[in-house]
Parts: sequence; structure tokens; C-alpha cells
Amino acid sequence: MSAVDKKAVLANDRFSQPALPSVDQIRAAIPKECFEKNLPLALAYMVWDFILLIFLYKIEPIFELGGLPGMIFWYFIVGMVLSCIFVIGHDCGHTTFSNYQWFNDFIGHICHGMIFTPYWPWQKSHRHHHTYTAHLKKDAGHAWTTEEVWSSWGEFHRFYATKGGFFLMMVGWWFYTIAGIADGSHFWPFSKLFKNNTERIQCVISGLVCVGWATAAFYFFGTFPLWIKFYVLPCIAHSFWLLMITYLQHQTDDIQVYEDGTWGYLRGQLQTIDRPYGFGIDYLMHHITDGHVAHHLFFTGIPHYNLMKATAVIKEMLEPYGVYRYQKSPDFLWQLAALTNRLEYLVGEGTGLLKYAKKKNID
Ligand SMILES: [Zn+2]
Ligand SMILES: [Zn+2]
Repeated sequence: MSAVDKKAVLANDRFSQPALPSVDQIRAAIPKECFEKNLPLALAYMVWDFILLIFLYKIEPIFELGGLPGMIFWYFIVGMVLSCIFVIGHDCGHTTFSNYQWFNDFIGHICHGMIFTPYWPWQKSHRHHHTYTAHLKKDAGHAWTTEEVWSSWGEFHRFYATKGGFFLMMVGWWFYTIAGIADGSHFWPFSKLFKNNTERIQCVISGLVCVGWATAAFYFFGTFPLWIKFYVLPCIAHSFWLLMITYLQHQTDDIQVYEDGTWGYLRGQLQTIDRPYGFGIDYLMHHITDGHVAHHLFFTGIPHYNLMKATAVIKEMLEPYGVYRYQKSPDFLWQLAALTNRLEYLVGEGTGLLKYAKKKNID
């Protein structure tokens, strides 16, 4: 047995679990209709989201009466509704919106392009996140911080990576998609994200769609300050929501991250947490919050409107093994603040299993 194999066996022993049901067994237990796409229903959800967005813009003057707090609240809600629309585009990218590839791509470019997200490039990087969830090196959708990386940072870097959580969520989307940290730029056709000319052409097309939407918004709102107010700031609010949701779905004190030799598809996907936010948010956001384990296991199979039916089965099957993660999160903002502050770095690199180092106060 090679040294690498030995290391893998050792690491596997350390977190061995009773044999879990296989992905195929879980799939077989889920009602078949959960895997069926319903195009009229998918379109109805999309139209509903757009009606909600238009309504919010119509009633914006009421929020202005509340001054700065009123407007912050407005942006908070607008960011959420834009994220609902984003989830529709997310289904398009996973081909669960309709059975027609061209139609998925068309709707995806509407729902993502309008939030300055290049549809095809993000579809690619997001699929990578799904394919290698919780793999230290390959799941670049999450910038895992290891002990080694953490120790190379100065005080300021450590401060904004933890205490600056909220601010990072607001700008993180642009660092990720434009600057390309860590998957490569989603807007630059020659970035490391793209492997062939088809992908590079797709990058240019999706990028131009984003520019087209931003330009249309500029002419629609008429002036630069209004464009900032009604287009740029809502996009930033969307960044906050999307990154908060993503963070909370994959980060908690006992999350496990794996390496080559110990990572496995099911094991990786189960490092996902279902978090009901309450207040109707889960319904509005098409269950990206409380049906995320089901989404991760069958990301190209289950449309958003069937996630909760599948979740009930998954919960029943996996809960006895202690591997179904669920946490009620009506205090999601507080949880985000607490976790970004608390979860500093992963320890155990090289052993096959990484976990968060616990601070003394939570030991
Ligand atoms: Zn995910
Ligand atoms: Zn997904």
C-alpha cells in the first residue's frame, strides 16, 4: 500500500460511519414526480418574481420616507427578490427549468444577466462546486482557509476575513466573478476558468448580455445617480444575499472538508446544511435555503418546486445516520455575523480530513 493510500485509509478510519445508503438508493426512495419538470409552473414562478420586483420599485418612495434606515430595508428586500430571480436562472443552468436547452439558456441570460452575472461562465464554475463539494482544492466556490494560509496573513487580512463578513458578502460576488478569486474571472475569456474556445465565446456572449442589461438600466433610469441607486446598489444587495445563503449552506462549526483520497461524492454533498429562514423567505427564495441538501444530491434532476418533497424523504433516510444537517435559522443575519467571526481556519491539511479549529470560548 502506498503512503498516500495509507494516509487515506487512516483518515477514513477517523471518521468512519455506518454504511450510508448510496445516492442511487436515495434517488430510488424519492417519488419519481420530483424529477419531472413542469415548464408552465417554472414560468409562473419566474413571472411572480418579476411582479414582486416591479412592485417593490413602485413602492420605493414609501421606504424613502423612512430615511436611511428605510432605504437600507428596501435594499435588503430588493436584494432578496433579485436572489429569487437568480435562483430561477440557477435552475436554468442546472437544466431543471425546462427540457429545452436553448430555452434554459435564454431564460438564464435574462435572470442572471440582469444582475450582472454572466450566465454560462457561472453555470460552469457552479457545476464545479457541485461536482466537488467540500473538496479542499477543487471546491473553489468556497475559499477555504487552511491553517497554513491563515498563518501567512497579517492582522488586517485576518480582521477583514472574519469581522468584515458582512462587507465581504456585499462585494464578494464581484471579487469572485470579475476579479476571478478563486475560480478565475467569469468575464475574461482567457481566464483559467475556460478550457476551450466554445467556453471563451460563451464567456464573451454572456458578458455582453450583462453589459447590455446594465446599459439598458442606465437609459431606463436616465441619470448616473439614479442608475447607481436603482441598479448598482440593488446588485450589491443581491451579492449580499447570495453570498450569505451560500455561506450558511456550507459553513458551520462541525463542517468537514476532504482531500484527494478521502473525498467522496456523497460525503462531500452531505457537508451541506438545510436552514429554514422562516418569515416566508424559504418559499419566496424557491427553497434554496431549506432544500439545499436535496439540491446538492440531485442538482441536475430536481426543479426548485419539488425540493421540499424530496427533502422530506432525504431527511427520513439520513437522519438516523446523523448525517442530515438541519438548523432553523430565523436569526440568519446573526448567524452569519457569528460564524464569519468565529470560523477562522481549517486544521488537518494533509490528513485527509479538515475541520474548523475551535476557539477556547466555544470548546
Ligand atoms: Zn452549494
Ligand atoms: Zn446549484
